[in-house]
Formats: sequence, structure tokens, C-alpha cells
Amino acid sequence: MLYRDDDIRKDTDINIVEALHQLFLKYNRVHTLGIVLEDIYQTPIWYWMQETYKKTPKNIAFGLHAFVHIDYSLLIYDEVLSDLKKCLDYWNKYRGDLPEFKHFYPPYSKQSNALYKACEEVGLTCLNHGGIYPMYVFHWGELSLKENVERVEQTLIENIKIGN
Ligand SMILES: [Zn+2]
Repeated sequence: MLYRDDDIRKDTDINIVEALHQLFLKYNRVHTLGIVLEDIYQTPIWYWMQETYKKTPKNIAFGLHAFVHIDYSLLIYDEVLSDLKKCLDYWNKYRGDLPEFKHFYPPYSKQSNALYKACEEVGLTCLNHGGIYPMYVFHWGELSLKENVERVEQTLIENIKIGN
């Protein structure tokens, strides 16, 4: 089971992401971040990712979600390709010790042939709902820290119970 914590971005509340991360440590699962890159460098969440990867590298993973949160399926191939290249340039310039991106998690779960092709061109695998990987995607939305933690913990417990 891939647990995808989407929309990690420059203004992400690190108290919530840290509380959720503690659950992934408690149940020894991988906390996968879907990252929106714009202006994320040297924000609190950027420092949090650096420190957390250093301390718990086996329990955290990093995937590309977007540069800005747009619907990539509306773009033509050349537009997708140049956006993805911009994303990879940005990440590789600022990621420090964090690993390179391997996966792209499309915003709004919207995909297109152009998107798949462009991902392949830059060496990313486009992963989505309904694909070959069972995936639980959570967005924090308007929920409180407590509600988010309860919801994710419940999901972890249920999945572990059925052997995921
Ligand atoms: Zn999103």
C-alpha cells in the first residue's frame, strides 16, 4: 500500500506532517510525500524534509506532484515536458541529500497520454489511483491535526489488519 500525503507545499503546517509521520514510524510504514515545488526551498517544510529523511530514511519517500497545482491533463505534450523538466531542475538544484524523484503523482488524479509520454521521457513513472499500485491518498483539507491523525491512523490499522 502506497500512503500518499499530497499537496506538501511551501506553506504546509509542519506540526501536522510531523504528527502524521510519527504514525508511519509507529506502524513502520512509508510516508510518501506528493510535493508541490514552487518556492518550497528553505521553507519550514523543506527543512523538515531534510531532517526527517536524515533521521528516518526508510519511512519517508518523495514524489513529484506539481510545480504549481495545475491539471496537467489539459496541457499539450510540449507544455507538460517543459513543466516536468522545470520541476526536476528545481528539485535537483535544491534537494540537498534527498533522493531524486522517481514517481509523478498527477494533481486531481487527471492523466493523459501526453502526460504519460512526457513522464517517460524524463524518467518518471506516473502513478495514479486505479493503477497497479494500491494507493491511499490523503489531503488534509479543512481537518484539524487531531482529525487528520485519527483518520490516517485508522487507515493504517485497517490496511495492516488485511495484510497490506
Ligand atoms: Zn493535489
